[in-house]
Amino acid sequence: LNSRQQHRPCSYFDESYHAELRRKLDIEQGLRNAVTDARLSIFLQPKYDLGTERVAGYEALLRWQDPVLGTVSPAEFIPVAEQTVLGQQLDRYVIQKVMELINIHLPLRQHRSAGCLHIAINITASHFNDPQLTAFIEENLQRYRVDPRTLCLEVTEGVLMSDSDHVADNLSRLRALGIEVAIDDFGTGYSSLSYLKNLPADELKIDKSFIDDLETPAGATLIKAILDVARVFHLRVVAEGIETENQLVLLQELGCDYGQGYLLGKPAPADEVLKQFEMTDVCSQGWGIYEK
Ligand code: C2E
Ligand code: MG
Ligand code: MG
Ligand code: MG
Repeated sequence: LNSRQQHRPCSYFDESYHAELRRKLDIEQGLRNAVTDARLSIFLQPKYDLGTERVAGYEALLRWQDPVLGTVSPAEFIPVAEQTVLGQQLDRYVIQKVMELINIHLPLRQHRSAGCLHIAINITASHFNDPQLTAFIEENLQRYRVDPRTLCLEVTEGVLMSDSDHVADNLSRLRALGIEVAIDDFGTGYSSLSYLKNLPADELKIDKSFIDDLETPAGATLIKAILDVARVFHLRVVAEGIETENQLVLLQELGCDYGQGYLLGKPAPADEVLKQFEMTDVCSQGWGIYEK
C-alpha cells in the first residue's frame, strides 16, 4: 500500500464512525469548559396535578449554549457525559444550582407552607453509584437551607435494578432524609417488573413514547396496565410528554395522577419561573400560566 491508499477512507461506515467520534470528543471538550465557564443554565418544566389541574412541582433540565457547537441538547450530551467523570460534575452543578435557586427565591417558611413545591433533579446512572452522592447533597441542603422534602431525584430503571451496594446505600440514605425518588422513562428499560416489588421509590414517570401511543387501543391498554401496577406498589404516576388535548383528557379519565408536557408548560429559565413563584401562589393556578 502506498500512503495515499492508506489514508483513503475504506468505507462510508468508517467516515461516519469518525464523524461520530469527533463529535463526541468535541462535546466532551466543550462540556469541560462549560462547567468551568458557567455556560450551562437550568430550565424548569412544570409538573401538573391532573386532578386539580394545578402546579405540583418542577423538573430541572440542563441547557448548554456553546460558542463553537451552538445549542447542544441534553439528549445528546448527557449520554456522552455519563461515560466519563463529567456526568458527576454536571449532576453536582445542577444539584448545587437548584439549591441555590431555592434559597434565593423561596424562603424556607414559604416552601414549607406551600407544601406543593417539589423540584426534581435528574441524576445520571453512573453518578448514583457514587458513594459521595448523599454526602454532597446533604452538604448543599445545609449550606442553602433547603428542606429535603422539596427535592425529588429522577433515575432510570437500570439504576434501581443494579445490585450495587452504593446505589442501595444512596437510595436508603436519601429517602431517610425525606428526599423522594422517581423512576424516569419508565417502560424503556426492557426490565422485568419484578424489581418494583422491593423498590424504594415514590414516583413512576411513564415515558413519552407510551403517551404518543395513547390514542391506539393497544397503547391505551398498556397505560392502563402501568397505572394498575403503580397502584399496587403505591407509586404516584406522572405522564411525560403530553402534547395534545386528547392525550390529556384520556389520561385524566384513566386517573393518571400527574402530567408534564408542552401542552401544559414548556421548560423555561429557572430564574423566571421562580420569580413568578415569589410573586404569586403558583400552586393555586391552573395550567397555561407559563408561555406554551
Ligand atoms: P427526561 O428526564 O425524561 O426529561 C424529559 C425531556 O422531554 C426533556 O428534554 C423535556 O424538555 C422534554 N419534554 C417535555 N415535555 C415534552 C413534550 O411535550 N414533547 C417533547 N417532544 N418533549 C418534551 P431535554 O431537556 O432535552 O432532556 C432530555 C434528557 O436529558 C432528559 O430526559 C434527561 O434524561 C437528560 N437530562 C436533561 N437535563 C438533565 C440534567 O440536569 N441532569 C441529567 N443527569 N440529565 C438531564
Ligand atoms: Mg427526568
Ligand atoms: Mg423521562
Ligand atoms: Mg427521557
